[in-house]
Amino acid sequence: MAQKTVLVVYAHQSSASFNSAVRDVTVQELTQQGYRVIVSDLYTMNFKASATQDDIIGDLKNPELFKYGEETMHAWKEGRLSDDIVAEQCKVMEAELVIFQFPMYWFSVPAIMKGWMDRVLTQGFAFSLKNMYDKGVFKDKKAMLTFSTAATQKMFQPDGINGDINITLWPLQNGTLHFCGFQVLAPQIFWSPAHCPPGVRTAMLQGWQSRLKGLLAEKPLTFAPSELFDLSFQGGFSLWPKVKAEWESQSYGITTGHHLGKLLPPDNQTKAPPADDNQDKAS
Ligand SMILES: Cc1cc2nc3c(=O)[nH]c(=O)nc-3n(C[C@H](O)[C@H](O)[C@H](O)COP(=O)(O)OP(=O)(O)OC[C@H]3O[C@@H](n4cnc5c(N)ncnc54)[C@H](O)[C@@H]3O)c2cc1C
Repeated sequence: MAQKTVLVVYAHQSSASFNSAVRDVTVQELTQQGYRVIVSDLYTMNFKASATQDDIIGDLKNPELFKYGEETMHAWKEGRLSDDIVAEQCKVMEAELVIFQFPMYWFSVPAIMKGWMDRVLTQGFAFSLKNMYDKGVFKDKKAMLTFSTAATQKMFQPDGINGDINITLWPLQNGTLHFCGFQVLAPQIFWSPAHCPPGVRTAMLQGWQSRLKGLLAEKPLTFAPSELFDLSFQGGFSLWPKVKAEWESQSYGITTGHHLGKLLPPDNQTKAPPADDNQDKAS
């Protein structure tokens, strides 16, 4: 059987950091399980974060009005994307699972990782209007976020100062990963490693190592399946009226984003639902 590949897209500047230790655990554990693990160490690679016309080899289709999305789509089709983008796209193609490992910056990923997303997940390669969400290009692949924070878990509760972590994670997990089709595994969050005793940090790393043992078999998070939506311009890509009416009687919204003015489904972006959960009718 062919060896399976995991890609770790990694963003931390220091090899002495907690994030570096997490990455090492990932590589060691998955390698031991027989996976081929590729690490894209973005700072070491000096990965270019800005989406510019340098990413396209040859003439632009419309030099008067540069449109990054359209130009990179044409360049992808014609094999004219810059080498660093193509190299990352090849790694994604090979991977069964893509892990994004980073310290949280401003409720999101560091700029260098956002640049990887902007530049590597180009139209055509990673998505199209026909191929998005559960019909997405990468629907047979998995992806997940593993990240550290300065904040404690309590600060990211619905009544904590930062608000609900499920809302924080929605743009990255739904808007980027699931939009490209990935089945998104529950995030691995290392709460405040810089402000806890060494023993707690060791326990966090051990917890991650034991999760890695069954990671590839985990059930993904729940997102709204595209069949719930009228995917036409006339229909506005909105929920079918019938579906909306059906959800009227539910106490909870469909997902964190599709809350329909109701209570947010608990832990929608942080935990996979149990097998018999009502949410299970979502993808
Ligand atoms: C621009 C910016 C924006 C930010 N925005 C946010 C935000 O929105 N929300 C938020 O919560 N935080 C935010 N932060 C904080 C940031 O997320 C944290 O500082 C970061 O997550 C801490 O992770 P680290 O790997 O850098 O920790 P480190 O500081 O590198 O490590 C923490 C501790 O772990 C120790 N350690 C290293 N290796 C091991 C090991 N093998 N075993 C045990 N211990 C080890 C280190 O020695 C250190 O004592 C932001 C920071 C910046 C710079």
